[in-house]
Amino acid sequence: MTHAAIIGGGWAGLAAAVTLADAGIPHTVLEAAKSLGGRARRVDVDGRVLDNGLHILIGAYRETLALVRKVAPAAAPYRRLPLTLEIAGRFRLSCPNLPAPLHLLAGLARARGLDWADRFAAARFMIGQRAAGFRARAGETVEALLERTRQPQRNRAFLWEPLCIAALNTPPAEADAQVFLHVMRDGLNGGAGASDLVLPTTDFGAMLPDPAAAYITARSGTIRTGCMVKSIARTGSGFLVRNSEDELACTHVICATDPARAGSLWRELPELAALAASLETLRYLPIVSVYLQYTAAVRLSSPMVGFVDGPAQWAFDRGALCGQHGLIGAVASAAVDLDRMAGDALAADVDNQLRRHIPHLPVPEWHRVITERRATFACVPGMARPPQRTALPRLLLAGDYTASDYPATLEAAVRSGIVCAHAVMADR
Ligand SMILES: Cc1cc2nc3c(=O)[nH]c(=O)nc-3n(C[C@H](O)[C@H](O)[C@H](O)COP(=O)(O)OP(=O)(O)OC[C@H]3O[C@@H](n4cnc5c(N)ncnc54)[C@H](O)[C@@H]3O)c2cc1C
Repeated sequence: MTHAAIIGGGWAGLAAAVTLADAGIPHTVLEAAKSLGGRARRVDVDGRVLDNGLHILIGAYRETLALVRKVAPAAAPYRRLPLTLEIAGRFRLSCPNLPAPLHLLAGLARARGLDWADRFAAARFMIGQRAAGFRARAGETVEALLERTRQPQRNRAFLWEPLCIAALNTPPAEADAQVFLHVMRDGLNGGAGASDLVLPTTDFGAMLPDPAAAYITARSGTIRTGCMVKSIARTGSGFLVRNSEDELACTHVICATDPARAGSLWRELPELAALAASLETLRYLPIVSVYLQYTAAVRLSSPMVGFVDGPAQWAFDRGALCGQHGLIGAVASAAVDLDRMAGDALAADVDNQLRRHIPHLPVPEWHRVITERRATFACVPGMARPPQRTALPRLLLAGDYTASDYPATLEAAVRSGIVCAHAVMADR
């Protein structure tokens, strides 16, 4: 009888488990950490509920939003806002609720911080990419794409580069233009609501892992947290998954760990040696989240505000979004120069950055810096992302690093988990 072991309870593993639960296929999620969610999880710090990383979703994250709605149908744990990008004191783009690309064109026509030449250049970029099928040149970086399409400095600084860093966590000079154009295609040029900003109104545990765990265990799944998988061995009829508690016999394995740890589990599987070696060549980039607690009255001008004067690129008003009044969360993506900086110094820098834009900001009462050194892989041209199917027919790979049009995002993770679950279902 089919029994799948899912190694890793991040969003990829949970998406696989929920899909198998819907099909009534027995499965066990083995998660090394005490809690589910992986890189997008709740963390409790000094009695405050925070997220391991501040996340932005967009309406084009179709499968992620469907998964969240499926496991928690009662109330959407997020706020959807028609695309609005605000760069403090410099730029504001607010797109009305019209079909693409009219919404963007209308938004550009009334954008603040661009002149008419900038607006035409941005419109020309989107219309040109649409006509060309959103195809980049081989090996092209985002910077080279913006150069080739003659994007003025303000468009780059306020629009394309912030979107590139937020979506790909990779600086434009290195980022893969093709993956960037996929995000533009599905986000800015997608169907109704695809470009909406989707901002969580709960912590990341409540958004998916908690309701997903209830959904899975009420159906055909079992969840074991604090259960570290050490190795996978083949048996006559499937696999033996050796973990910190025991050995689990199963017919299928969905390996849904982060890429840095996947290869170490396959030491006894020579068929996967080349795959393990290729994962070792992945390069990672950090993301730093800085939380600053001010008095409850402190608000940002929008729930999410961008900055071009560093160190953070975006700040979120957790009061407006999650009811955590006075708590500002700031995020610095592709933060190669910040990830080794002392937390107190970085928090002071971000406080100073906010102070330049918010008059009369009081001294913060509390702060916390959370650094993820391996937040995502560096999304550079020519990356070989492994397919979900491996050389072993019943051992599948899920995770944001596996083959996808999308960069390392929740949507790439969720889609990969669903693909793996369907492969198990097809093999029943
Ligand atoms: C700070 C930060 C900000 C981000 N911002 C955004 C954003 O704004 N928008 C967006 O879409 N994405 C964002 N991302 C990326 C997003 O969080 C990831 O793409 C996604 O969470 C990856 O999910 P995953 O399931 O593939 O991997 P993970 O979340 O890494 O899950 C893998 C799981 O496997 C477990 N595991 C590993 N080894 C073992 C083992 N041996 N045995 C058992 N379990 C094991 C781990 O503990 C983990 O829970 C951000 C990431 C970070 C870190």
